[in-house]
Amino acid sequence: QAFNRISETEDRVKAFITLDEEGARSSAKVLDDKLAAGDTRGLLFGLPVGIKDNIVTEGLRTTCASQFLSNFTPVYDATVVGKLRAADTVTIGKLNMDEFAMGGSNENSSFYPVRNPWNLDRVPGGSSGGSAAAVAAGEAYFALGSDTGGSIRQPASYCGVVGLKPTYGLVSRFGLVAFASSLDQIGPLTKNVEDSAYVLQAIAGYDQMDSTSAKVDVPDYLSALSGDIAGLRIAVPKEYLGEGVDAEVKETVLNALKALEALGATWDEVSLQHTDYAVATYYLLASSEASSNLARFDGVRYGVRSDNAGSLIDLYHESRSQGFGDEVKRRIMLGTYALSSGYYDAYYLKAQKARTLIKQDFDKVFEQYDVIIGPTAPTTAFKLGTQVDDPLTMYLNDILTIPVSLAGVPAVSVPCGFADGLPVGMQIIGKAFDESTVLRVAHAYE
Ligand code: GLN
Repeated sequence: QAFNRISETEDRVKAFITLDEEGARSSAKVLDDKLAAGDTRGLLFGLPVGIKDNIVTEGLRTTCASQFLSNFTPVYDATVVGKLRAADTVTIGKLNMDEFAMGGSNENSSFYPVRNPWNLDRVPGGSSGGSAAAVAAGEAYFALGSDTGGSIRQPASYCGVVGLKPTYGLVSRFGLVAFASSLDQIGPLTKNVEDSAYVLQAIAGYDQMDSTSAKVDVPDYLSALSGDIAGLRIAVPKEYLGEGVDAEVKETVLNALKALEALGATWDEVSLQHTDYAVATYYLLASSEASSNLARFDGVRYGVRSDNAGSLIDLYHESRSQGFGDEVKRRIMLGTYALSSGYYDAYYLKAQKARTLIKQDFDKVFEQYDVIIGPTAPTTAFKLGTQVDDPLTMYLNDILTIPVSLAGVPAVSVPCGFADGLPVGMQIIGKAFDESTVLRVAHAYE
């Protein structure tokens, strides 16, 4: 069924890089046999899922949407992929993205851009644009994405689906190709909040293979979906509804807040005063970490090797020049510069200090409030081609998602209406490891 839908829509949407019909059929057969044998069904039995192409899958090509890895077939599964299999899902393919998850529109895919199913002239957002578009177009029942500075939430917002970035450390990153290791998190993109809770239930939990994995008990997220938010205290940062936020987006989110009030919640305006520094802080830190993480792509160990190199240094140089796209090179140069001696204190160290201040803003608000709410992105999906040559404008799209990533706390984007005929997402941000409250509020609203 999923493949019928894909054959109807995929020519236009381009959400997948690799489809695996054969693999899906053999997984489905395993499930059929399980049923026939009377075995118990896994939590997500039989659901066709898509996996973002920076999450490794044994025997199934994993490209990160980069030419560098266009021939790379991993020999093991990421922890999340193993957990989904244990929950009886069927993987149907690998989803398109911005190259190495760097971007916010999917136009940095070195294969082809994804298009927004609501309007094919618009971007789906990024970097998990393929994940969001596949769910919005009904090609996959749900998808996994990764979020470093907004890459699950912003595309969810643009494509009208639910996207959850869990607390840093809740979901194992083992087998996620690292972009910025102190920020990266894997999470679900789903059609509704209940599905999001189901998928999180299946993928959350401690993993000894990931040194940043948190040793916490995984609560029952499904029982958190009580529908009851009476007495909930909501903080609305004035920085999230200020300058730069589209008037219609703002109005849509304010209406959603009214709906939450009608359910018994109250809200106050607060200030996250270091918000203005978040974008600069993030791009320094994320690029620094990326420049170090991507050093492993040397043309020797993984992926494509240049065949016209005369020496070892030349081999690194040629393979990297040919394998990486422009945005990836830009980040590597920026990161290497920020980490170099003489500039380290002025840029990297300063950005680390700013990150602490941003996190403290959140801590302070959470002393008095249960959740923080605002728009997920300042605008709805923009037109393809309009920002791709203007990295600064592109980076500013992340202004409302980046602070959350820097603070390491969980947030979900839920659809809350339309502006100009395109979906608007509301972001519900919670305390660290309090996904239950985030999901409860989103579910009550939905
Ligand atoms: N758009 C942001 C960036 O380009 C976020 C990416 C992400 O979360 N992976 O870095």
